[in-house]
Amino acid sequence: MTRAAFTTQDFARRIERAVEQAQAAGLDGVLVTPGPDLVYFTGYQPTAITERITLLVAQRGHDPAMILPILERPDAEAAPGGAAVTLTDWTDGDDPYAATAELLEPEGRYAISDSAWAMHVLALQAALPGAHYVSMTSTLPMLRAVKTAEEIERLAAAGAAADASLEEIVQVRFAGRTENEVAADLNALLRKHGHSQVDFTVVGSGPNGANPHHEAGERTIEQGDMVVLDFGGLKDGYGSDTTRSVHVGEPTAEEREVYEIVKRAQQAGFDAVRPGIACQEIDRAARTVIADAGYGEYFIHRVGHGIGVTTHEPPYMIEGEERLIEPGMCFSIEPGIYLPQRFGVRIEDIVVATEDGGRRLNNTHRELRIVT
Ligand code: ZN
Ligand code: ZN
Ligand code: ZN
Repeated sequence: MTRAAFTTQDFARRIERAVEQAQAAGLDGVLVTPGPDLVYFTGYQPTAITERITLLVAQRGHDPAMILPILERPDAEAAPGGAAVTLTDWTDGDDPYAATAELLEPEGRYAISDSAWAMHVLALQAALPGAHYVSMTSTLPMLRAVKTAEEIERLAAAGAAADASLEEIVQVRFAGRTENEVAADLNALLRKHGHSQVDFTVVGSGPNGANPHHEAGERTIEQGDMVVLDFGGLKDGYGSDTTRSVHVGEPTAEEREVYEIVKRAQQAGFDAVRPGIACQEIDRAARTVIADAGYGEYFIHRVGHGIGVTTHEPPYMIEGEERLIEPGMCFSIEPGIYLPQRFGVRIEDIVVATEDGGRRLNNTHRELRIVT
């Protein structure tokens, strides 16, 4: 079932908040090019991102405006947030950068989407040499971090769909099939459970599980393999991302031990979630469990990342991130232990911070599952 679209007012409020955050950061406004930010602020996603400039300009003292190629106007008007912005179009043969410059303050300081094409930024710099541009993610990392109730419901629905996919994938045969075959099953299951986009289907069997960047390959899964399954994508515009590690046949005592440590670390990370603590404390809580068990050197990545209209975004649960958790922030908690050339274990849930702690958006059990 597709959920009701966000309203024009929802988008207007998001834009307003961006302008406030920009102002608090000493900027005049934000410049948004097609991609996740534009989807977030307008619901508008051009069918193709091209050399023709499309740019949302949100700045204090002005109504939000979007400049775009005239041929894209009907789609932009029809977008859920299309009515929240004033559209200005340009036609092939016009100078779109001169038209864009008219919307900007000559000496303005703007945060611009990280994915803005260099050709557009360079042309804007030439058209308006007094203006200054900084990276959106580095100056306003928390722009999309706090989710509304409706966004959280979408993330929960995406999480439930990923959970349903997990419950089905553990029923398939693993031994004797390749990682790619199991990954294809996962892809089909996510789509069957309502995902419109699959971002990753990691199937890391045996030694491949010890490489957190391994996706899936031609290795044939064998009896005795630990298998890391990490998958997710977008459902109704919001992301899922969950990991379970399963074992083909009876695990060894060592495999069980490593698994239990990761499970305890994941729980410790979850238990640390509450408003007002720094993101790095969640990393520390999970990492300490693994370090105390003697496996610290085998946990080689941050504990988590935010999730929303993309599957990886701020806030990051990482040492050095001192920003504070606020109610409505959604992020992964995904500690792992990776024993080179042997096997890996990772357990990942998406968690939303509430007033009084964490709420898991993935709810499949975290005991070690035996598959065939
Ligand atoms: Zn084994
Ligand atoms: Zn993941
Ligand atoms: Zn993740």
